[in-house]
Amino acid sequence: MAKQYDVVVIGAGPAGYVAAIRCAQLGLATVCIDNWIDDDGQPSPGGTCLNVGCIPSKALLESSERFDEAQGAFAEHGVRAKTVSLDLATMMARKEKIVADLTGGVQQLFRANGVAFVHGTARLRTGKEVEVERLDGKPPTVLKAENIIIASGSEPVQIPAAALVDDMIVDSSGALVFEEVPKRLGIIGAGVIGVELGSVWRRLGSQVVLLEAQESFFTMADGQVARAALKEFAAQGLDIRLGARVLDASVSDDKVKVRYQDGDGEHKLTVDKLVVAVGRRANTAALNAEEAGLKLDEWCLIHVDDQCRTTLPGVYAIGDVVRGPMLAHKGSEEGIMVAELIAGGARHVNYDHIPSVVYTHPEIAWVGKTEQALKSAGVEYRAGSFPFAASGRARAMGATTGMVKVLANAASDRILGVHIIGSQASELIAEAVIAMGLGASAEDLGMTVFAHPTLSESLHEAALAVGDNAIHIAKIRKPKK
Ligand code: FAD
Ligand code: NAD
Repeated sequence: MAKQYDVVVIGAGPAGYVAAIRCAQLGLATVCIDNWIDDDGQPSPGGTCLNVGCIPSKALLESSERFDEAQGAFAEHGVRAKTVSLDLATMMARKEKIVADLTGGVQQLFRANGVAFVHGTARLRTGKEVEVERLDGKPPTVLKAENIIIASGSEPVQIPAAALVDDMIVDSSGALVFEEVPKRLGIIGAGVIGVELGSVWRRLGSQVVLLEAQESFFTMADGQVARAALKEFAAQGLDIRLGARVLDASVSDDKVKVRYQDGDGEHKLTVDKLVVAVGRRANTAALNAEEAGLKLDEWCLIHVDDQCRTTLPGVYAIGDVVRGPMLAHKGSEEGIMVAELIAGGARHVNYDHIPSVVYTHPEIAWVGKTEQALKSAGVEYRAGSFPFAASGRARAMGATTGMVKVLANAASDRILGVHIIGSQASELIAEAVIAMGLGASAEDLGMTVFAHPTLSESLHEAALAVGDNAIHIAKIRKPKK
């Protein structure tokens, strides 16, 4: 007989595990099914984010940044390091330990909250049943629940022009486990993964070439920020080739030979490793969606409304497997929302204020509308910006690259977007998210007291600049007569 729960959650990534914990906190009998297997054949809940995404990539970004700084930027502070050498095995072991600690932490949280966990692959059946092909040696199990939450996540898109080959042509997961620093590294796609992982290997010594199909760089970001980022990355040595379409890639003589085409014709590129980072697609193939009557859209994303209800009553879908940005925090918030809806509460996700962060150096972060989006929507706005070069704290840190830009409605002064490129942008953006969530105006931010000396003062000054009142930017004004 099928085992009965209040909620079955499919997937233990940041969307699913958060949903499961919140359901259990709200008193719902909850089981979470996940099929991730670690290198030892054991379950490893945490999904893409903890196993091969956010966490291991940030661990390597942090370590590689230290290595890069020790070779150059320390000297400016009068700190001389005579010989700096790389111990890649230790760097990788540190990253793996962080992953193991955090995935173990998810299992602990499940136990503490009374969430049952099943290691296996789930498929939907009709009548709110889920069949699990188990990975723990036990026979298939059928689970029944009043509510099902699908959080099966996403996987890297593959392209026929560059099929994966062992550890030579790899996806983002493969690019997190290279055992040696590739002398020349090619990356197809100069999106978020391309520039983050490209930065890691460039800092560790690779010559990195990124082949990007689009003519413009980082179209999702504010244009001014994207242009500044492209200039910075080029200065660091990331060779970003725009308008480049890969024709084919093959492995021979322990090298990867790539043929690509751009506006100037056909080119050849030889690299030691090639990373394919051209986006991700929803994991819906194993779900038995069609037979179960679950509607997918043309991208194979599960069709949901604003509160993540699918076309099947009592079945919800959250995270990368539904519309919206493929970001861990977006999926987690959807998980909390759905848990509270199931428990009879009211909750929504503010999709207009989901922050985006790119963890390069400098970091890039934004929330709300870009200038180009406001222009094309015909919204009248005022912009205020402040360069970190004029911030005392940024000078003390030696982090003068970049700026903060605040965009506010011309009539109401309500903040419509904040864009930051610079050190610690990932942390600074939270202040803008809170301000926008509370419906703040640029004047509200301008009247808020920020500690001195901090990088946050640049947000204050950018907000003041919306009203032309920034203090630390030189502007010749004529005295009033
Ligand atoms: P996932 O994390 O993909 O988890 C889904 C889980 O469901 C997986 O464990 C999968 O094995 C399991 N599963 C799938 N189908 C079934 C099934 N039928 N039965 C049982 N289990 C199933 N996002 C950020 O916000 N910040 C970052 O810094 C960031 N960095 C990233 C870096 C890289 C290299 C990558 C690849 C991604 C990064 N992301 C980042 C994106 C982030 O990882 C995803 O948005 C996030 O993991 C999505 O969460 P999810 O729970 O929806 O799905
Ligand atoms: P992406 O959409 O950010 O970038 C993919 C890039 O590849 C695009 O610029 C696209 O134009 C290009 N491209 C597509 N097909 C191509 C082709 N055939 N040849 C050359 N270029 C091609 O996707 P991604 O970098 O793979 O990341 C996947 C997802 O993971 C993103 O949605 C992102 O939100 C998430 N992610 C987030 C973070 C973060 O929050 N810091 C970090 C990594 C990944």
